Amino acid sequence: MTAYLEIADDSEGHELSLFCVPKHYEEDLDSVIIPSGLIKDRNLLTDIFGMASASFNECIHVKTLCRTERLARDIVRDMGGHHIVALCVLKGGYKFFADLMDFIKTLNQNSDKSVPLTVDFIRLKSYSNDQSTNCVKVIGGDELSALTGKNVLIVEDIVETGRTMETLLKLLNECRPKMVKVVSLLVKRTPRSSGYRPDYIGFEVPDKFLVGYALDYNEYFRDLSHICILNDRAKEKYKV
Ligand code: 5GP
Repeated sequence: MTAYLEIADDSEGHELSLFCVPKHYEEDLDSVIIPSGLIKDRNLLTDIFGMASASFNECIHVKTLCRTERLARDIVRDMGGHHIVALCVLKGGYKFFADLMDFIKTLNQNSDKSVPLTVDFIRLKSYSNDQSTNCVKVIGGDELSALTGKNVLIVEDIVETGRTMETLLKLLNECRPKMVKVVSLLVKRTPRSSGYRPDYIGFEVPDKFLVGYALDYNEYFRDLSHICILNDRAKEKYKV
């Protein structure tokens, strides 16, 4: 498994006023926990560090400049011998998926070796409000049988208990792919975890409900660039 950035349990994130956040969400968020630039832009850490509080410097262990770019490099190193089918878990995974695919494409364009890459989509649902429902539903996507004999890279937004990914892996393995690897942008540190760990992890995060960068709360907040901590008032406001 590759290294990941760890965001400490006592990290309070960054003040919202340091970032551009849509006006319609300003009252709903506690803080920014992962600025979008840290996920996908090169050299942004220097900018962030320039303005960040000391607590931020203390609470993350910096190992790379850009997480998504580094994940792309590790994935191509491990899976690049054969055609890769990247399977995006919708809806929360779409931003990370798009950015990761761009980095893999760039690697393909700028290296002596390249690997064909095709994409596929699956839609899963296991959450209502901020609670896992114990029931993982496949509610859309292409036929999984198309993945038989393929090298499959599952791209997920966040692993909490691990139940969603364990269910998907079981379904997928029935179709006998040649190889399956899982990359998740986020993994939550929680006592509810089944112990499942993806092959590649972007960030390990505290046990809080996170939104933004396509992660939603009842479909809201996908239109927020940074990953933020949702406040309790907003959980009531957008409850279904
Ligand atoms: P698991 O099955 O691992 O408990 O949960 C995985 C799924 O739950 C994710 O794909 C995501 O849809 C949802 N989820 C878990 N934690 C969070 C969170 O903090 N924020 C959001 N927006 N979704 C979450």
